[in-house]
Amino acid sequence: MAGFFSRSVRATADEDAGSDEAPLRPIAASDAVRRVELLDSFEAAGLGWFWATDAQGRLIYLSDNASEKLGWSDGEAIGKPLGELFIPERFDDPNKTQRPLVFLLSARNSISGLNVRLAFTKEEVWWEIAGKPQFDEKGRFTGYRGSARDVTASRESDLNAERVAQFDPLTGLANRERLTTRLTETLTSYRNSKRACALLTLDLDRFKQITDTMGQQGGDELLKQVAARLEQIVDSEGEIGHLGGGKFQIVQPDVDDRGALGELGQRLIQALSQPYSIDGARAIIGASIGVAIAPYDGLDTKELVTAADLALYAAKGGGRGQYRFYSSDLKNSVQERRRVEEDLRDAIANGQISMHYQPVVCAKTYKVQSCEALMRWDHPENGDVPPAVFIPVAEDIGIIREMGEWALNEVCRQAKQWPVELRVAVNVSPMQFAHDDFAQTVRNALTNSGLDAARLELEITENVFLGDIGRAQGMFAELKELGVNLALDDFGSGYSSLSYLRTASFDTIKIDQGFVRGATEEGNNNAAILTAIVGLADALGMETVAEGVEARDELELVTQRGATLVQGFIFARPMPNEDFVDRLANGQQTYEARGPAKYRAARKTVFRRIGLIHEDNRYKVVMRNLSKTGAMIEGLLEVPLGTQVVLDLGGGQLAVATVRRSKGALQGVEFENPLISDGAEGLCTRHRVSPYQIEAAGRPLAALPQDPYSLIMGEQEGAGSPRQFVEVEVGTPKPGTGY
Ligand code: C2E
Ligand code: MG
Ligand code: MG
Repeated sequence: MAGFFSRSVRATADEDAGSDEAPLRPIAASDAVRRVELLDSFEAAGLGWFWATDAQGRLIYLSDNASEKLGWSDGEAIGKPLGELFIPERFDDPNKTQRPLVFLLSARNSISGLNVRLAFTKEEVWWEIAGKPQFDEKGRFTGYRGSARDVTASRESDLNAERVAQFDPLTGLANRERLTTRLTETLTSYRNSKRACALLTLDLDRFKQITDTMGQQGGDELLKQVAARLEQIVDSEGEIGHLGGGKFQIVQPDVDDRGALGELGQRLIQALSQPYSIDGARAIIGASIGVAIAPYDGLDTKELVTAADLALYAAKGGGRGQYRFYSSDLKNSVQERRRVEEDLRDAIANGQISMHYQPVVCAKTYKVQSCEALMRWDHPENGDVPPAVFIPVAEDIGIIREMGEWALNEVCRQAKQWPVELRVAVNVSPMQFAHDDFAQTVRNALTNSGLDAARLELEITENVFLGDIGRAQGMFAELKELGVNLALDDFGSGYSSLSYLRTASFDTIKIDQGFVRGATEEGNNNAAILTAIVGLADALGMETVAEGVEARDELELVTQRGATLVQGFIFARPMPNEDFVDRLANGQQTYEARGPAKYRAARKTVFRRIGLIHEDNRYKVVMRNLSKTGAMIEGLLEVPLGTQVVLDLGGGQLAVATVRRSKGALQGVEFENPLISDGAEGLCTRHRVSPYQIEAAGRPLAALPQDPYSLIMGEQEGAGSPRQFVEVEVGTPKPGTGY
């Protein structure tokens, strides 16, 4: 090694050449000449430099080769204020661990190991400097003496190491550690400034299907493309992290508007659901998202992450491809879900599962053309559990194939015995479809029952395209060979790519209820889309079923727009096999259209005990129904029209409303601001009572409790004004639908 040590070693060796026993000549502190020589060689080797300033902070010395490195000729640096040699640091730099140089200099503090960036170099050059203030015998400041060394290279490699430690090498996104640190920092600093921060946890739906069919490499390629799409949508304020596998997290500082977050969730899901090209093959994936907002749903990282995970879990349980906000009821839903899981495992063996049938009628003649088999679970304690609840559970706990196989056999067996040879459609879960032996299962069901293949239709959703499209096409071909019909179910509800229609030769497209619903409302473009879908299906020689037709105006619209078949409550609800057989046996093959004349804005019938706040009094009322724009409440007598009230919908959701209808104990109220979708079937307010407000009322800061309003109002309630309305007791409804 050339340089400082080699030079000094050589010097000693030369002088003692020829002698084995060289005498030791230590450099004494008083030996100024040899000490200067020593420092000279240190400077010359570039291992470090010295600098000194005068009492005014001007440079009076800088090692020659430091000046050279900076491109200064001899002595040019002399006289410059030390602080000006470096780029001033930003005071708000989050990575800063020390006070800035100018501060240290003016306070005459010692400087040790401070990294500073040189101001006058073209390239980025960093020094680490150290220095001590000097004082004369009278204690007067005389300037600094210090050292410096170039740390550009080691700093670069430190930064690289940091990057490796903080970022996911595959996607370039922050990794779990970095995201957790950032979230923790944000939450801590936001707590003081009373700001909000949202966390979205996103999980790709059935990511495993991609790695199973396209291998690890295919999966990695997909993740890269997913990351790129996420980065396009999430603005620079947000930070995205890849936690591993198909799981991502997005931190959105300063957002607590659930309307905006719902829109973001929807946009993310839509963007990720567009097809991907992976090594020349096409693949599709969906995404589910859970949303939690600090401080409402959690104060610290752990609480917020758990809340977002619970919401994600609910979004998955709700059928995937959706977002869901955290709410405190989700904690109960985890327990409920465990119960469903346990009970469902034995449901078939216990004879609790049966198939019901809903007719599909000709749009012109109302004559039954076919029917759809729908699974029912009659739970001994909870009554009818809807398939929307138990099918996703069956998929998650891995019993959907068994249940689906049972359904296929049961339907084929029953249909074979019907007095009329009607076609019957069976719903197929994408998880059944993904299995190579699925065609064999269908073949067995046909053989066992002796049902003609042409009478069986398989309803699949767009989700079967998740994963490798080529593989799905192979399965379609096998099924077609068996002679069964194929229907694309719920078209328009999810990813809705028209390209699916080219991918497989479907016999039928079932237009999702969501398109029929509201298509008759003014300003709604569903009707136009309906026309387009029907036109396309016609061109491709497919039949179109309009699903979920309830009102006469909807029937008129779908018929006018060319749908060939109609399925909906307007003709019949799904019914047990015996009832269906009775009708067929009685020759009752034409149905009557029976339903309301007009579809009314989705007013969900509910029975929920809520609070109604009028002036500073709070009343207990029952909410009977709820829509985006208003609600029907019961429990107060004779409330005058035009009365301004606030509905406390629970969980800190306060909705300002005006009484528009009033009859006895029933009041119809209109919200000042419409509610928004909670991602599932439900509605929620955009904003909630802030935990900071509760804190301001003298309570400790905590995530929102179930009934935060009472914490704020507590003692003050009814302090001033007398109660103006008479509360009446409202009875409980009959036991509901169970879960
Ligand atoms: P889907 O295949 O789209 O079935 C149509 C759903 O719409 C059924 O709900 C039906 O009762 C309902 N419906 C029909 N007409 C109307 C109407 O006019 N208004 C309204 N509001 N609803 C109407 P259901 O039986 O609750 O089933 C829900 C979903 O569960 C089905 O949607 C299907 O995806 C799934 N499912 C049902 N049975 C099975 C099964 O055996 N296997 C699998 N894998 N999934 C099933
Ligand atoms: Mg269906
Ligand atoms: Mg459907």
